[in-house]
Parts: sequence; C-alpha cells; structure tokens
Amino acid sequence: MSAQATPRAAAESTRGFVEVADRVFVARYRQWDVNVGLVLGRHGAVVVDTRASDVQGSQVLDDIRRLGRDIEVRHVVNTHVHFDHTFGNAAFDTATVHAHDNVGRTTEADAERIKAAFRADPGAGPEYGYTERDAAEVMATVVRGPDRTFGSNATIDLGDRVVTMTYAGRGHTDGDVAVLVPDTDVMFLGDLVEESAHPSFGDDCWPLEWADTLSSHLIQAADRTVVVPGHGRPVDGAFVGRQRDEIAAVAAVIRERRLGLGSLEEALRAPDPRLPYPLDDLGSAIRRGWDHLTPPTP
Ligand SMILES: [Zn+2]
Repeated sequence: MSAQATPRAAAESTRGFVEVADRVFVARYRQWDVNVGLVLGRHGAVVVDTRASDVQGSQVLDDIRRLGRDIEVRHVVNTHVHFDHTFGNAAFDTATVHAHDNVGRTTEADAERIKAAFRADPGAGPEYGYTERDAAEVMATVVRGPDRTFGSNATIDLGDRVVTMTYAGRGHTDGDVAVLVPDTDVMFLGDLVEESAHPSFGDDCWPLEWADTLSSHLIQAADRTVVVPGHGRPVDGAFVGRQRDEIAAVAAVIRERRLGLGSLEEALRAPDPRLPYPLDDLGSAIRRGWDHLTPPTP
C-alpha cells in the first residue's frame, strides 16, 4: 500500500509463519495487514518483504527462529519500495537485500515522504491495525535500501533450489517485482495484487500500465500457482486475472475521460458504473493517468 491509503478489513493475523508449499512460508501481520514470505533452501533462506520498522523486522526474525530449524537468512527481497514492505530491512544485517533498480533509486525519497506523512498525522489507524507506538517506530527507523538491484531479472541460488525475481513493468509503483519459487509454483506479487482490500492507487502508481504488467506476470503462473498478495490471504491465478481486468477497467475510464472534452476536476467527480472501486479511492489514479496521457510541452 502507499501511506495510509486504503482501509482494509481487520487482519486475520496468522501470528507466525504458515507453510503454503514445500519449505515456502507466509506470515500475515496485523499492522497494515502485510504478508512476509520465507523460502528455505540448503544454503540459507530468503525473506520476501520485511514489514514497517526495524522493530517489526526483528519480530519477523523471532518468528523465523520459532520455527525451530537452524535457519540463516542470507537474502531479503523487497517486492517494492513502500515502507510497510521495506523498513524492516535493517533487522536482517547478515542478509543481502535485493530489489529493482527503481527501488534503489527512490528508497531515500520515499522514506522521507512516508515519515513526513506520519509526522503530520501520527495518530493510530485502527482500520490499518497499527498503534501510535507502531507509527513512532516507523518514524524512528533508520532506513536500509537494497544492496543489489536489477533491471529485468535476477536469481538467488539456494543450492537445492532457486528463487527468481522478475520485473515486468510499472503498476502499483515503478519498481514492483514478482518473486517466484519455480519448483513449488508459489509466486509473491507484492502490492500488484491485494486480497484484503482493493488495489492501492497511491501518488506513485502507474494506472494505465498496471494491467499489462500483471498480464506479463500471469504468463509465469499456472492454474495451481499459489499467489501471495502484499496484503491478505493467498489467491490463485484466476483471482489475479479478475483483479487485472478491474484495473484495466479503471484505466479505460481514465483514458476515455482524458480523450473527452471534460476537465480533470469533472473526471475526479463523475461516477461511472464501470469503475470497480469507490471513486474516492481513485483520485491519485485519475490524476496520474491524466498526467501520463498529457503530451509534454516542448
Ligand atoms: Zn505498496
């Protein structure tokens, strides 16, 4: 998600890691209802996303230790730049942090933006499952960006299995990657897909490109693929296809309005039965889509 964007149903927190496929685990946490992945191999473990603060990242490490195996986390992958997926990186001091090039480029600015948003409104967000203490921990976190970035694809070799990271274009942000464990058909899609709320269109989203990005990722998914969203319960490829179509519907309405004669202010206010999500949650999508369709002035 982006900042305190979309309210979501109270998380059905799992309180710890649950195995969703052979040595692939997911933990779902109450604060911001965020998912963290864990992939075990012969040469250590990969953690996918790290929660919203260094304190929360340490709690992830505690939950990993609680699995009772001798697990060494050697790699962290950030699915995208947002704080609720990256601010826990600092807790994984022996791991290499991987992310898309654009995450490396925007980490610092995005961190400042979110800290400023919390400073301006540090109040607890019960609908997001966080307390004032959680917000204080976000603001106090010394942010650690990626150590290793990539443009299109990268692979982590765990000895007996690999974990692949794929970039297929912009969507929720300009740096969303899919993390795949090919021998188990599990795919982590970050906030390109959400289950416990509709997709989050923040002021860094790419609404007109998002659906195509999801289509590209879906090529790698089979019917039986378990898709772990950034927020909410694991879904399947059919769910991702439906959400892709909803995002394409949002893009179609934005294009139609931009090519019509109306103003941006009218576009932001006009209801349309084809819009699958509340108009109030689409302000950034409409504004950004409008800009992306406006030719640059020479
Ligand atoms: Zn996000």
